[in-house]
Amino acid sequence: MKRIYLDNAATTPTDSDVFEKIKPYYTEWFGNPDSPHGVGRKAMQAVDDARDRLAALIGANPNETYFTSGGTESDNWAILGGARAKRKEGKTRVVISAIEHHAALYAANTLQAEGFEVAFLPVNAGGRVEMNELERAITPQTGLVALMWANNETGVLQPIEQACTFAHEQGALFFTDAVQAAPYLPIDVKALGVDMLSLSGHKFHGLKGSGALYIKNSVKIEKLVGGGEQERGLRGGTVNVAGVVALSAAYEKTRKEQAQTNAKLQKLSELFRKEISSLKGVTRNGETENALPSILNLRLEGVENTAFLYKMDLRGVCLAAGSACASASVKPSHVLTAMGLTERAAKESVRLSFGKTNTEEEIIEAARLTVQTVNELRQG
Ligand SMILES: *Cc1c(COP(=O)(O)O)cnc(C)c1O
Repeated sequence: MKRIYLDNAATTPTDSDVFEKIKPYYTEWFGNPDSPHGVGRKAMQAVDDARDRLAALIGANPNETYFTSGGTESDNWAILGGARAKRKEGKTRVVISAIEHHAALYAANTLQAEGFEVAFLPVNAGGRVEMNELERAITPQTGLVALMWANNETGVLQPIEQACTFAHEQGALFFTDAVQAAPYLPIDVKALGVDMLSLSGHKFHGLKGSGALYIKNSVKIEKLVGGGEQERGLRGGTVNVAGVVALSAAYEKTRKEQAQTNAKLQKLSELFRKEISSLKGVTRNGETENALPSILNLRLEGVENTAFLYKMDLRGVCLAAGSACASASVKPSHVLTAMGLTERAAKESVRLSFGKTNTEEEIIEAARLTVQTVNELRQG
């Protein structure tokens, strides 16, 4: 059976030329980058080079660019480390959207348990945080504001530049989770004005278990992982050499191909919607104006998503109900319910996420199987 992979928001395949590039760091140049010998130095050179390249691409200095184990760690570090540092100035309020990734929400809940006052921002029916909510929530007591750039379930873009401005007006730090936006939007941290920004390598054809966190030079946050002097003393642990080489190479390639990829995904998304247009009772979740081209979140009325995903998987089509991290649970998506969907509507919703490796033939076949499967399930 030929598989059709439409879950690119959960992870992407590693690019083959990126894969080739990292092989020497598992074989010949396997050294610990902190070791005082040639094999170690070679590894350290690779890490330095990867850091320089990534920093240049996002408009940062190399010493503002930290490598982590992924988006989850970067989100946790930025939120916990940022809020705890600001607590020393007496600022104990944290503002975060209700639709963040579970990694960010977990960090916010941890802060709440530590005594921080945490405000969870609502979103409108289109899945976007509204300006007046932002402005009202960010008070002089606020030490940290966290708002993701693009939501991973709906693809809806958030008003991060305005949020950043409001945060700075009140002396708060601003962090954005750019994990899902990074494959599709160019990043310039200086133009955005953000204090911290997180990335994950495997969302743009790098390796799982590799991530980065940009931290502006003037911003001091507390460390999350200690026990070693790596990453300027702020993130202990032997650096994942192959992971960071892959992250930087994959990101470089992503940026080069970005316009072309976006145009392709837009076309594939339109093609899919056209091919399923015979189906009644299908609505798109999330606004379409300010959204990534890669994600299509659909409510299929009368179709339980777990049953749909199961049948589609048997037919070779890989897709998801919401974020991969939550898909083992039967809870309705926190993102969709925050948008005002009923629990039932949320449980009838599925996420398709297209990627650069998908073809038109795959989309047509996936749409045909979608129509067939929905009709079967509706007939019960
Ligand atoms: C995937 C994802 C993460 C988590 O990144 P990992 O590298 O898988 O830990 C965080 N935020 C968003 C928006 C994501 O899509």
